[in-house]
Amino acid sequence: MAELKRLSESRDLTRIERIGAHSHIRGLGLDNSLEARAASEGMVGQLPARRAAGLILELIRQGKIAGRAVLLAGQPGTGKTALAMGIAKSLGAETPFASVAASELFSLELSKTEALTQAFRRAIGVRIKEEAEIIEGEVVEISIDRPLSTAAGSSAGPSGATAPGKTGRLTLKTTDMETVYELGGKMIEALGKEKVQSGDVIALDKASGKVTKLGRSIGRSRDYDAVGPHTKFVKCPEGELQKRKEVVHCVTLHEIDVINSRTQGFLALFTGDTGEIRAEVREQIDTKVAEWREEGKADIVPGVLFIDEVHMLDIECFSFLNRALENDMAPILVIATNRGITSIRGTNYRSPHGIPPDFLDRLLIITTQPYTEDDIRKILDIRCDEEEVEMSADAKALLTKIGVETSLRYAINLITSAALACQKRKGKVVEIDDVSRVYGLFLDVKRSTQYLVEYQSQYMF
Ligand code: ATP
Repeated sequence: MAELKRLSESRDLTRIERIGAHSHIRGLGLDNSLEARAASEGMVGQLPARRAAGLILELIRQGKIAGRAVLLAGQPGTGKTALAMGIAKSLGAETPFASVAASELFSLELSKTEALTQAFRRAIGVRIKEEAEIIEGEVVEISIDRPLSTAAGSSAGPSGATAPGKTGRLTLKTTDMETVYELGGKMIEALGKEKVQSGDVIALDKASGKVTKLGRSIGRSRDYDAVGPHTKFVKCPEGELQKRKEVVHCVTLHEIDVINSRTQGFLALFTGDTGEIRAEVREQIDTKVAEWREEGKADIVPGVLFIDEVHMLDIECFSFLNRALENDMAPILVIATNRGITSIRGTNYRSPHGIPPDFLDRLLIITTQPYTEDDIRKILDIRCDEEEVEMSADAKALLTKIGVETSLRYAINLITSAALACQKRKGKVVEIDDVSRVYGLFLDVKRSTQYLVEYQSQYMF
C-alpha cells in the first residue's frame, strides 16, 4: 500500500509539469444536450465527430458499451488522438488514458500479446480507498521556538507564517472555537512548506503530515457556514478534532503489476524496466483487487485505451482484442487509422482499414474531416495560450497560413521553436520574423519531399 501511495503522489507531480501535444484538451466541449460548442474545453470544430463522441460518452456512462469499440477514421492530424483524449477527460480526472501506436506492440523484448495486455492494464484504473486521520481546524496561533503558555482559548502571542525546520507549537482551533489542538515540531515543518498563516483553515493528514488549505476564515466568524464558497469546512462537534476521512489513491492495474514483479518496486515504472510480467503475478493481483472490491476498499475505473495506426495490427492482435473486450474490467477501446482499403497484416486478404470483418462488426465508426482555416487559427491560438507564448497578430496570421498550406501539426510545432527564436533575440512577443525564421529552418513534408526530388541522386537507394 505504501508503494502505491508514493506512486499516486509522484504521478500527480509529473502530470502537472508535462505540457504534451494534447494538454489543452480538457473534454469534448459539449453542452448538456450533447451538442458540440464551436470551441470549448480546448476543442475546436470537428462538430459531427464530437457529437458522435458525446453519444459514445453517454453509452459509456450508462454502461452500454461493453464488447464494442470505437474506430476514428480520418486523415493525419485531424484530431483523432485529441478526440480520444477528450472522451477520457470527460469521464473524469481519475479515468486513465493509455495511448499506443500499433507498431509499438511489435518489439523483441515483449511478445505482442504481452505488450497488448500491458496496454490494456495501463488503461484500467484502481481507486484504492484508505482511512486516514485528518485534523481540520483554523490556525489561530503559530508560536515558534517557545511553547505556548495556555493553549485553550489563547489568542495572545505572535502569529504569522511558519518556518520549516523550526520546533515549536501551533495551535489549531476547531470551528466551534472552543477546543484547541497543539501540534508538534514535525507538523510545524509540514505546515511551513505550505506557508500556513493564522486565520487559514486547514486539513492535516496525521500520518503523512500533508497539509491541505481549505480556505481562510473571515474575521474569526463563529458561523463558518456563512463564510463563503471556500468554506468546504465541516463543523466538528466540540472536542472532536480528529476526524476519520477517506483518502483515495488512483493507480492502474499495470502499475500494481510492475510494483509487485520488480525488485525496485515502483521505481521500475520510471526506469521503464517493466519486462514481461508472469501470468501468476497478474492472477494474484486480480484476486487481491477482487477482494478489495468486495470489502469496499477499491473500485475499478475502466479507462480509455487508444491504439493509433490500427492497420499495423496483425490478425493475432485482432483476435486478442476480440477476446479482451469481453472482460468485465475492459477499458473503452478507441482505435484510429488514416488508411482506406488495405491488406490485413499477416494475411493475403484486403479489407476496409486493414481490419478483419468480424472485428469491424464490433465497431462504432466516427470519421474526422480536414480543418478549415478558421479552425486552424483557433487551435493555434489555444496552443499559444497553453505554451504561454505571446504572439503578435501578424505572426499568428502567418502561422495560420502555414498551417493551411502544410499541416496543423507542423504549424503547432513551429510555436515552440518560434518562441525559442524570440527568446534568443531577447524579445517578449513572437513576431512575424521569428515565425519565418523557423519556417526556413525546419522543412514541412511538402518542401522536404521537393528537396529529396531535387537532390535524390546524392542519396543512397
Ligand atoms: P495522426 O493520424 O497523425 O495520428 P491525429 O488525427 O491523431 O493524427 P492529433 O494528433 O489529434 O491528430 O492532432 C494534431 C494536433 O492538433 C494535436 O496537438 C491535437 O491536440 C490538436 N488538435 C487536433 N484537433 C483538434 C481540435 N478539434 N481541437 C483542438 N485541438 C486539436
